[in-house]
Amino acid sequence: MTKTVEELKPNYAPAYAALYPKLAEIFQTNGYALAVHGSMGRDFDLVAIPWAGEVSDPAAIVDIITTRFALWKIGDPTPKPHGRVCYTLVIGHGECALDLSFMPKGQERWFSGRVMCVKCSHRWISVAPVTGDEQPNGLECPACHEMAGHPTKETE
Ligand SMILES: [Zn+2]
Repeated sequence: MTKTVEELKPNYAPAYAALYPKLAEIFQTNGYALAVHGSMGRDFDLVAIPWAGEVSDPAAIVDIITTRFALWKIGDPTPKPHGRVCYTLVIGHGECALDLSFMPKGQERWFSGRVMCVKCSHRWISVAPVTGDEQPNGLECPACHEMAGHPTKETE
């Protein structure tokens, strides 16, 4: 198949691929999983996802990587939907760029455990989002559909 002019241009994907493991290690040390998003053809789109219980601030990680690598921060971080924040870093003389997004630390965590309905005594195992150290209460009962499910200490 004939390549388009765009496809014949040099591509930075090999350089990005070489950089990725070193960056991923720094993100992991700071509590984040680092995912590659996009084709790597033009710029390098990375998404940092809070993974460990404690994560470093995005600005601190950007400082680490701009100190250790020939990367420079361009402009201010840009707020994006869902609390995502995006940093633009340039590599070398600015011929290629790294778009680095951080997803926010969630306020929610998942409860997973035994729940009992106080209306019909149905018991089930529920996985539900909760905030902080709260216990979920008033979960919808799959049997009677009342919002009457509460965690139980029962094991069977
Ligand atoms: Zn019920």
